[in-house]
Amino acid sequence: MKPNSSAQNFSLSSVYCSTFGHNYLISNKITNYINEYKCKTCGREVTNSASGNIELLTFKTRKLNACLSDFFKKKLQHNTAQLIES
Ligand SMILES: [Zn+2]
Repeated sequence: MKPNSSAQNFSLSSVYCSTFGHNYLISNKITNYINEYKCKTCGREVTNSASGNIELLTFKTRKLNACLSDFFKKKLQHNTAQLIES
């Protein structure tokens, strides 16, 4: 029997992850402290919150991170501009 259906592959990945833990890789860098991570095995996406906990990446947290990323980039540009001027 060949495990060739994607649904079956997905459940096998989930079993692997629940047994051995997720294999997270950074998928999106938000700030120096906050990143979005995606599991290489099952595709589960999480992010670290401002309080330092790992949270499941939802529509709400993704939107929050996008705002935070935008704010952080602007702040970084502002700081760099100040450095050049002084
Ligand atoms: Zn996983």
